[in-house]
Amino acid sequence: MSDFGQEKTGVADKRETLGFQTEVRQLLKLMIHSLYSNKEIFLRELISNASDAADKLRFEALAQPDLLGEDELGIRIEVDKEKRLLSVSDNGIGMSREELIDNLGTIARSGTAEFLEQMTGDQQHDAQLIGQFGVGFYSAFIVADKVTVDTRRAGSDQAVRWESDGEGEFTIEDIDRDERGTSVTLHLKADESEFADSFRIESLIRKYSDHIGFPVSLHLAGEDDTKVVNSATALWTLPRTEVSDDEYKEFYKHLAHDFTDPLIWSHNRVEGKREYTSLLYIPAAAPFDLWNREAPRGLKLYVQRVFIMDDAEQFLPLYLRFVKGVVDSSDLPLNVSRELLQQNPDLTAMSGALTKRVLDMLGKLANSDDYGAFWGAFGQVLKEGLVEDHGNKDKLAKLLRFASTQAGSDTQDQSLDDYISRAKGDQDKIYYILAENYETAIASPHLEQLRERDIEVLLLTDRIDPWVVEGIGEYEGKALVDIGRSALDLPDGDGSVSQDVMNEEHKGLLKKVKRALRDRVESVNVSRRLVDSPACVVAGDEDLNPQLRRMLEASGQDVPESKPILEINVDHPLVGRLSAEPDGGRFDDLSHIVLDHALLAEGSQLENPAEYVHRMNKLLLDIDTGASDE
Ligand code: ADP
Repeated sequence: MSDFGQEKTGVADKRETLGFQTEVRQLLKLMIHSLYSNKEIFLRELISNASDAADKLRFEALAQPDLLGEDELGIRIEVDKEKRLLSVSDNGIGMSREELIDNLGTIARSGTAEFLEQMTGDQQHDAQLIGQFGVGFYSAFIVADKVTVDTRRAGSDQAVRWESDGEGEFTIEDIDRDERGTSVTLHLKADESEFADSFRIESLIRKYSDHIGFPVSLHLAGEDDTKVVNSATALWTLPRTEVSDDEYKEFYKHLAHDFTDPLIWSHNRVEGKREYTSLLYIPAAAPFDLWNREAPRGLKLYVQRVFIMDDAEQFLPLYLRFVKGVVDSSDLPLNVSRELLQQNPDLTAMSGALTKRVLDMLGKLANSDDYGAFWGAFGQVLKEGLVEDHGNKDKLAKLLRFASTQAGSDTQDQSLDDYISRAKGDQDKIYYILAENYETAIASPHLEQLRERDIEVLLLTDRIDPWVVEGIGEYEGKALVDIGRSALDLPDGDGSVSQDVMNEEHKGLLKKVKRALRDRVESVNVSRRLVDSPACVVAGDEDLNPQLRRMLEASGQDVPESKPILEINVDHPLVGRLSAEPDGGRFDDLSHIVLDHALLAEGSQLENPAEYVHRMNKLLLDIDTGASDE
């Protein structure tokens, strides 16, 4: 399991010194320096680990009841102010020697190295990043200069001690220990003795553990009595009216290992054919591994209060992977496994209901000032729903936010309903443009005619947008229309002159341009969408749009050959000049340049930039000679 190469036999009571994995070393260093405005969170992390350990034991005891024994599962915190000691003990699952080395010597998460690279040394920024990462056990070193972990795995008689000053190495040795479970002892730094203070620690325990399902007791050195400090009822089992907002928020932090408050939550008990309780949260910021396909996701599953698994991904679709929460089912079997979950017919209905719940919660959030933060963090993930989940298309479409010509900024904050509320009386379509980025979109020649007529256009610049608009198709009876396509149907006015009639009028010019550009364009048309630009390219109605094409090509896929349609603005002086050009060679060069400029304007790359530069230079020299001739 571990890559530290320790021997399994022959070291029974020897003390071994092992090195932390490089990432752990980095993390420790950064954490100690960037988290000191938020030191106390180490206690939440240690209590969470202890409670997870108790959960895991209860789960294993389903199959092996003797593991559990007689004792009540619980967590005990001891402080000794004199000696500056603080320990968090549980009688949960414990760890074997190997598990101890693996769990507390490495970070078993992919992407950690890249994540750590983003650290800058700027405390506030780094603290926030670490918050997304979840610091866990190592946060003990924020307040301790030495940490000792004594542990014995349930069912084993071998106990082990782990010890480290957080500087790069840790030691492992066998010890005697009567009880199963784990004790984490912090040797507090000289200036952190407040954490061994009875009042301070009691209020922190209450703050960080009131909602967890096990009793947490506090024991002061030199005193006989031990008192249970928390209420020890799993938060989701309480009626909504008995839980305060602060308690919901604190529970979220425990659950998600997050520093920041959630944006919104939804707590429900479902009764009837299927009985279950769910508590679902929307985080305020994206975790660092949101885009990592292997990253754990899903809800924490309990069956009748017994913890079954973390990251049960069967309850929500992939596009809601940012949701954190708990499901506690009354009727799933206790021995349910990931495989059994997959086959369970009840699950489809449950996941359907939970998905609706999340979408309704987002609908509520959409009416608040927090929606911008949500959209910024998770908008692109939510968009996947338009591809993945057609059944909820209407609900999802309502939640989308776009940049738009009328809003005048690159912030995605306009809904389809906003768009419709501004649409002109006879406008029965929703117009959009696809582009690589906001700047290209807003400067696109395709917008000219619509801008002139004050028709709003949504500016779509996310990679997934071509699929999103296809997924929506129509919203409130209005079709979504790509203004970069050849057949552009604008409300009223110039629809009266058909493309054919307009082309007929300029037949000669079109034919000559087409001949000059023969291999490069599908056809040449007179444009009805341009005002200030001489030309633009559009896609045929059946063709892939250029964004999609570029994306597919970049991912190495075979894309069917298709050429753009060139549209020219016959009222533009440059086209006038082209039309009047007597010299055949120069006419061809100018035609190519007009096309190249149209391609550049939509964000495409030229197939042969050198040729373009050559033509352009030739033309510039011509202009120069032309001018001196006069
Ligand atoms: P996380 O809890 O996010 O996985 P941690 O760094 O806090 O990360 O802990 C790493 C691992 O060490 C845990 O996943 C768990 O397997 C193990 N561990 C930590 N504390 C305990 C404990 N009190 N009892 C048993 N195992 C523990």
